[in-house]
Amino acid sequence: MDPVNESDVAEEVQAWFDQAWDPDLSLVEWRQRLLESGWAVPSWSTDRFGQNLPAWADDVAHRVICRSGGVALPLGVGAGLAAPTLYEHGSIELKDRLLGPTLTGELEWCQLFSEPGAGSDLAGLKATAVRDGDSWVVNGQKVWNTSADHADMAILVARTDWDAVKHAGITYFVLDMRQDGVEVRPIRQMNNHQSFNEVFMTDAVIPNADVVGHVGDGWRVARATLAHERSYTMTRDVYFKPDVEGRVIDEAKAEAAVYMQTYEWYPQRKGRLDLLVEGGRQRELHSEQARDSVMRDELLKVWSFERAASLTADRARVLRELGHPPGSEGSIGKLALSEVARQCNTMHGLLAGADAMLAGTGDDPVHDAVAEVLISTPAQSIAGGTDEVQKNILGEHMLGLPKEPAADRGVPYRQVGRVGVEPGDPG
Ligand SMILES: Cc1cc2nc3c(=O)[nH]c(=O)nc-3n(C[C@H](O)[C@H](O)[C@H](O)COP(=O)(O)OP(=O)(O)OC[C@H]3O[C@@H](n4cnc5c(N)ncnc54)[C@H](O)[C@@H]3O)c2cc1C
Repeated sequence: MDPVNESDVAEEVQAWFDQAWDPDLSLVEWRQRLLESGWAVPSWSTDRFGQNLPAWADDVAHRVICRSGGVALPLGVGAGLAAPTLYEHGSIELKDRLLGPTLTGELEWCQLFSEPGAGSDLAGLKATAVRDGDSWVVNGQKVWNTSADHADMAILVARTDWDAVKHAGITYFVLDMRQDGVEVRPIRQMNNHQSFNEVFMTDAVIPNADVVGHVGDGWRVARATLAHERSYTMTRDVYFKPDVEGRVIDEAKAEAAVYMQTYEWYPQRKGRLDLLVEGGRQRELHSEQARDSVMRDELLKVWSFERAASLTADRARVLRELGHPPGSEGSIGKLALSEVARQCNTMHGLLAGADAMLAGTGDDPVHDAVAEVLISTPAQSIAGGTDEVQKNILGEHMLGLPKEPAADRGVPYRQVGRVGVEPGDPG
């Protein structure tokens, strides 16, 4: 592949798109054409929908295709987390079978990692898979699983060896969600959205061929998924160029509408700084409070902090695209986002006063969103690793502080006593 800089790649993608685009195809047909071109994931190998280019080329291709009025890969766990993990760690058979339909959007995915007693301490998971001939039988509960209620497949980590030490007894699987042994129970959130689910597995069956990587090596594979989760923006823009019509566009819009339903409160969980500035302007007209210079100072502080944080995130993104391994910027950026969300929350409350408690007041977009912001922002400092966990990472990896004491290392996991579980009882 010749092009090695961004503008060469953009030019090549544009040239391909101009001759390949056909809005009358179905969404799946179009994406198949995209996969065959090698511009679906240019950083992958030429035999797997790519061009052997550096990682930055993926974003360039995505951007050129969308800005030209076309449709790129689906968003979400499938193309964002499952596909790159399978590409890096899956068997040839798994890649042949699952990568294509995942990237075309025919297969929808969810992530079955967290459990009631294993969130920050993910390696403490208890869902158990037991080998039975050519299959594995899985029992256990997962929780906070985004989109599990409409997923076809899941990426799943389960304990397969209770006599191994904590991190060594875990195996990574793909699980068919459409089977009797899998029950999905939606969770209604306090902001009245419903993005999460509990997933109960009762004798769910997984063919041995659906182990990703090796049995007992699931922690390494899970870490790969988590690294993709940190670098992937699940809420990457869904962009449709105005005035472009056709079957592909209609089907892509329908797909995006379902996708965005799950994520529609995510802007609110970031704090809606935009509305804060708007709210300040509106209240300026009729409130002494907003004319208060202290309030203006506070508003500017949040705004400047957010700008500095997003420039840090941009710097980290560019470094990654240039091939540098992820550093501490991910944790710093994550903490900064939590701080922005918290500060926005306080400011929204101060500016809107008691009105902030009212939802759905009708004709005022600022008012309408503020109540939802106040109860959505806590999620920002939990999802993708809590603030405290980010601080531990920074303390240990950046400042070189001693590791946290851990009583559950170096012994068979079966012997580790845990709340609600007797030592030796696999749950
Ligand atoms: C919006 C959102 C989407 C999510 N989507 C998914 C999904 O699709 N799939 C999935 O599997 N999970 C998902 N999760 C779950 C998420 O990964 C967990 O909520 C997260 O890892 C924290 O785990 P927990 O909720 O069990 O909290 P816990 O780990 O129980 O933490 C409770 C409190 O203890 C603190 N704490 C824990 N350990 C330490 C420590 N070592 N040092 C200091 N403090 C500590 C935490 O910071 C926190 O304040 C999602 C969560 C959110 C909010």
